[in-house]
Amino acid sequence: AEKVQRLTVEDLSVHYGGVCAVSSIGFTVEPGESVGIIGANGAGKTSTLKALMGLVPRSSGRIRLGDRDLTGVKARDMVRHGIGYVPEGRHVFPGLSVEKNLLLGAYSRPWDKETDRQLDEIYALFPVLREMRERLAGALSGGQQQMLAIGRALMTRPRLLVLDEPSMGLSPKLVGSILDVLLRLREDGLSLLLVEQNAKLTFGATNHCVVMENGEVAMSGTSAELSHDPRVREVYLGL
Ligand code: ATP
Repeated sequence: AEKVQRLTVEDLSVHYGGVCAVSSIGFTVEPGESVGIIGANGAGKTSTLKALMGLVPRSSGRIRLGDRDLTGVKARDMVRHGIGYVPEGRHVFPGLSVEKNLLLGAYSRPWDKETDRQLDEIYALFPVLREMRERLAGALSGGQQQMLAIGRALMTRPRLLVLDEPSMGLSPKLVGSILDVLLRLREDGLSLLLVEQNAKLTFGATNHCVVMENGEVAMSGTSAELSHDPRVREVYLGL
């Protein structure tokens, strides 16, 4: 397995027409570290992740993973550089089986022993997906679809996993399951970058957080210290 490397984002900006959604922000994700991006609705969190992945045009910005410059890399090629992405709203293929959805995550490689091993790993992480492997993804519950979306991103064997609001629409119990999974992935040495509205999941799964306000980084610090900060509490309580 390739080594996990530092992600460096510098001077990242996103404009939609005349509207500035992200204004020259910068942050790093150290190898094996888990970083959260928090902030009120419209603060620019999703745009930051999409711009990182190359899914929306950047008006400025440099992206590096280790000493590799990924600034010009197209969205579909990001996975080959070790960045996995779980978009907001899951986006599984409802008319395909659970297993076919997972295999789509491995599309860039020929099917080999490694693919089977990878599937086994994901089924070990999400036993419910193994039980439902032949079911259509569209027949799964919201929580199961979220697990499938995470599993599919893991099929790309990322070294950094980027997740946009994995808790959306899930019951507290299922949020707990997602937290358990993220903690296991961290133990395995994966780096995580997480946008999340759920305070318990954010502060439970990350060791460092960036607080966004109006497209800018308003604060950053350890998750432990930020979880006690009155301004951060306001962001969450204000939701
Ligand atoms: P949320 O939690 O609601 O998703 P967010 O922090 O992720 O919020 P973004 O979705 O990145 O914020 O939005 C940042 C700003 O950009 C907002 O003012 C939003 O209205 C605007 N915006 C987002 N997407 C578009 C778009 N496609 N076209 C125009 N404006 C957009």
